[in-house]
Amino acid sequence: MSALLDDARVKEILAADRAHVWHPYTPMDEWRETHDAIVVAGALGPHLLLADGRRLLDGNGSWWVSTLGHNHPRLIAALEKQARKLCHVSLAGVVHEAAALCARELAAVMPPSLDQVFFSDDGSTAIEAAVKMAVQAHHQTGKPKKTRFVALDGAFHGETIGATSLGGVEVFRRPFGGVVFDCVHVPSPAGDDVACAPAWGEAFDAIAELIEREHETLAGVVLEPIVQGASGMRVYAPAYLRAVRDLCTKYDVTMIVDEVFTGYGRLGVMWAFELAEIVPDIVCVAKGFTGGVLPMAATVACRSLLEAFSGGRSRSFLYGHSFCGNPLGAAIAREVLAIYREEPIVAGVAERHALIEAAFARLRDGAITSRLVRDVRAIGSIGAADLRDSTSGYTAGIGWRVFQEARTRGAYLRPLGNVVYVAPALNIPLDDLRTLLGILEESVEAVARAV
Ligand SMILES: *Cc1c(COP(=O)(O)O)cnc(C)c1O
Repeated sequence: MSALLDDARVKEILAADRAHVWHPYTPMDEWRETHDAIVVAGALGPHLLLADGRRLLDGNGSWWVSTLGHNHPRLIAALEKQARKLCHVSLAGVVHEAAALCARELAAVMPPSLDQVFFSDDGSTAIEAAVKMAVQAHHQTGKPKKTRFVALDGAFHGETIGATSLGGVEVFRRPFGGVVFDCVHVPSPAGDDVACAPAWGEAFDAIAELIEREHETLAGVVLEPIVQGASGMRVYAPAYLRAVRDLCTKYDVTMIVDEVFTGYGRLGVMWAFELAEIVPDIVCVAKGFTGGVLPMAATVACRSLLEAFSGGRSRSFLYGHSFCGNPLGAAIAREVLAIYREEPIVAGVAERHALIEAAFARLRDGAITSRLVRDVRAIGSIGAADLRDSTSGYTAGIGWRVFQEARTRGAYLRPLGNVVYVAPALNIPLDDLRTLLGILEESVEAVARAV
């Protein structure tokens, strides 16, 4: 085990970080005081390579983006090849190969009616574009009063003010209560355990009643399909999505499905909405869109929605980021889709699911671990366990104790409050997955013994 960076260099990096970097979702005062940092010098496949030469298994694919493992040689090659030709050009009145073919290839893996691709930068802006598309489309088809949205309690759709408006995790919204737009949050159908998810009837009654009563002012419903990731990997029944689809159609409310986390095979199908056998009006993709190599995203709309934007320049969609259609991102996104066509990435989820499901069942049933573990669930390549804690939710501390145990054993398992989970690269080698799950089990057991 030889260091990737020498001590002097690591010291310099740490000093620069401590003085200047404001980290996301991080209590900065504590962070700067302890500065117990993981210094990553590289990454390969399922591993993060640390400066001191140790490796950490990346239990959550670096915040769910690294769906094909780190530094996939084909994605690096696609990036290099594109960089030599064209790094960037605006997409306003310009056509380039990477964006054009990327849009066609993305449309080819969507249902036939979803074939209009609008590029943006990340999951948040893909949502932002979808929301604006829905409002402007209603505005231009004689329904200007349709400006409000419906989202689920516990929803997470990103970080911009628009996406925050849709968010239903209370701690993330609280400071912004005065600036968010009008979004009605309805009870979530999702539960702690896959088996109890069918209890979605009451949640459906709530959204049905709302839409029936207020559809004249409702522009759209925005949903994470089947799994609510950020609120703790909560799962709900596909039948709920199907029922909401029917409501949206009946009352002309745009159905926006956020596949930023669930898309690209995470649940063992290319898109989670396939499990419900529905076709949304708009689908947002990011994260796995570039296999986590570059920030880029797409909002895919049905052709009929585009029709609302015809009739002159003032009726065109008034939206577009500087990096819209970025050639580097688009070239990588094309290579990602090529890998999905040529390798059994989605089909390979089933085997991994079996290992994940068994490991979480052992956590629930183990003589020691069951003292700490309240509920478990596994779907696709996601496994999650709710830990008992005096405080629950995002700010709970117990998950961090598991995180520290896992870190010393060689895995990166950042928790969601009292929920510890795995969501590794979809193609993680089976042996590495076994190692990751073994570390998880040992770490939970170590904490269970100590509490
Ligand atoms: C991560 C995520 C987003 C936001 O994506 P960013 O790329 O972080 O802006 C939106 N929706 C869901 C479901 C996500 O998991």
